[in-house]
Amino acid sequence: MAGFDISALNRAQREAVTWLDGPVLILAGAGTGKTRTVTCRMSALLENGVAARNILAVTFTNKAAAEMRERVIEMVGKKRGKDLTVCTFHSLCVRILRRDIESVGYKKNFNIMAGGDQVGIIRQLIVRKGGAREKLKPAEVMSEISKAKSAELPLTGIEDRLIAEIAVAYQNELRAQNSIDFDDLLLLGERILTEDQAARDYWRDTFRYVTVDEFQDTNSLQMRLIQQLVGPPHHICVVGDDDQSIYGWRGADTTNILQFETFFPNPKVIRLEENYRSTEAVLKVANSLIKKNTGRREKELKPTIMGGDLVRLVAMPGDDEEAEWIVQEILNQREEGRALEDFAILFRTNGQIRKMENALREEKIPYRMVGAQSFYDRKEIRDVLGYVQLLADPEKDIALLRVLNTPPRGIGQNTTMLALEHSRVNDCSVWKTLITESFLAQLSTKAGGAITKFVRQVEDHQRMIVDGKAPGVVLDSWLREMDFLPWLMKQCKTDKERDARNEAVSQAIGDVTAASQKGQSLQDFLDKTALDADKNDDDLDKKSGVTLITLHASKGLEYPVVFLVGLEEGILPHKRSTEEGTKDEERRLLYVGITRAKERLTMTYCATRTKWGKKEACEESSFLRELDLDWIEEENYDDLMGEEASDEELRGFFSGIQEALQ
Ligand code: ATP
Ligand code: MG
Repeated sequence: MAGFDISALNRAQREAVTWLDGPVLILAGAGTGKTRTVTCRMSALLENGVAARNILAVTFTNKAAAEMRERVIEMVGKKRGKDLTVCTFHSLCVRILRRDIESVGYKKNFNIMAGGDQVGIIRQLIVRKGGAREKLKPAEVMSEISKAKSAELPLTGIEDRLIAEIAVAYQNELRAQNSIDFDDLLLLGERILTEDQAARDYWRDTFRYVTVDEFQDTNSLQMRLIQQLVGPPHHICVVGDDDQSIYGWRGADTTNILQFETFFPNPKVIRLEENYRSTEAVLKVANSLIKKNTGRREKELKPTIMGGDLVRLVAMPGDDEEAEWIVQEILNQREEGRALEDFAILFRTNGQIRKMENALREEKIPYRMVGAQSFYDRKEIRDVLGYVQLLADPEKDIALLRVLNTPPRGIGQNTTMLALEHSRVNDCSVWKTLITESFLAQLSTKAGGAITKFVRQVEDHQRMIVDGKAPGVVLDSWLREMDFLPWLMKQCKTDKERDARNEAVSQAIGDVTAASQKGQSLQDFLDKTALDADKNDDDLDKKSGVTLITLHASKGLEYPVVFLVGLEEGILPHKRSTEEGTKDEERRLLYVGITRAKERLTMTYCATRTKWGKKEACEESSFLRELDLDWIEEENYDDLMGEEASDEELRGFFSGIQEALQ
């Protein structure tokens, strides 16, 4: 029987792995083996006879969940590991809701609203409530709604009157469409467990041993969800590091971890001291930074790998040079025998990515992007997923409305509005409306004909799947039949765009095929993609190459060589943080970034940065002045870019003197 290797753990870690019952709290710094310990602990649970289906591990990103599952499966084998549940809070709630949502008054076939669809609704509401010239940004409205919801405050209480009005209308709209957004997922999940005793008993009985990684990022709602889920005898193990709490803006509350015993009394508390990830140099720099935060529990990362290369801090003239230099560095270090997967470029804001992407492309270096715009949030992909949804269940109004006339098939806005109205009045789905005789009778022959044709297409293709044809194949042939790709291509402006969209569509079809080969139902697949559309992780893991990743998404991960770019005032710390008094959180974010590095860490900052096409002067980040210079080597671009340039400069200098003399 394959198991974990206890000798790969230190004493404190072993203690955590053998203490299986009751509440356990592991509070320790970055890279001390928290995640390793809990994965070993899960395999220890299996070895002690706990059934895999009774074990749940929750974390914050899909990527982290996937990694955790992999690590456990490596130890215990596929067969024993496959019934484990390792997931994010959101997907846990999807599972709860798919079974029990009726108890809070929704229909079972609810739809998860995310990404672009959500923006679409909000954009419409901004116009409807504020007029066509209203400048309010959908992102701002969404963030206010989300803040209120995760703090469980009434939407009517949102300070800005217009936003409050939009928020209420938005919620009604969701409700009318039997849809829920990401915040609702958690809210309803918690409500079901709190209010529905039978459901609570069922889930408590299902998940008898619960583990939560990155616990410092839980908010009070997630905390209550956990409390409802974990009944006595409280087999719960949480791990985290208060210094890595970076989701304060989403309501994360470190008291959850710092005062864990008030939620689950008498926990076994375990502290891990040694860092196994990074060199001494990296850790000294990390320690010097985080020390500047107030109100933290004092702890120092102790190295097990002494010495190491000094941390490099490189001053750049501009963001073009920054990108070019980093790419050059990657190429150089690659010649020393490193794999592309060893490198990660960490950035604070999305605006920093494009230059870096272009520079990588220029040199034909493959890369994967994590944390930036999600694949599943691309317009063409949402269209394709709309069709997948029709195959799975055409009564999901949003998907149906999205593709009803995309590509155009003669079903105009008026017809759509009529259908929507009819479905409201009769309290049924739009799909039901489309197949109702009395509704069709209202329409012109032409519109009626177009609808009937569409309905037939949906039914025909559904039938093919019922008859056993592979969903990917059915989807592919349907898209061909309706000339989806030619229509899409016509809207592209450049060849590059055509290639990108073409590839995205074929990738989506491939994903459908892969999902059905794995035995996933179409609805499961759609739920999963809706979750992926959440910011944090493009599941592009399969692709190899350099990793481009946001600091937020990098938590829990590690890379041999890390570049932390754009360390400028206004970027990190982010300019909002000074206004909002969240500079400590920005410092933690940088701390998370630094502690991702195993062997080499390079930080860069620029004297100018291009914004809206114009070069703007920038200042180095004030955090840089807090770092322990004993472990840092300061360099600048001009010196690094070598002698040829300086030769030329010298020649120019001398000829200048000569000219002056003559
Ligand atoms: P973070 O706070 O960033 O999430 P963590 O505390 O979860 O970090 P892990 O990712 O579990 O840390 O471990 C960091 C690295 O140290 C990993 O490469 C892991 O394999 C290694 N490691 C952990 N424990 C030991 C040990 N006892 N001996 C050797 N290596 C270890
Ligand atoms: Mg971890």
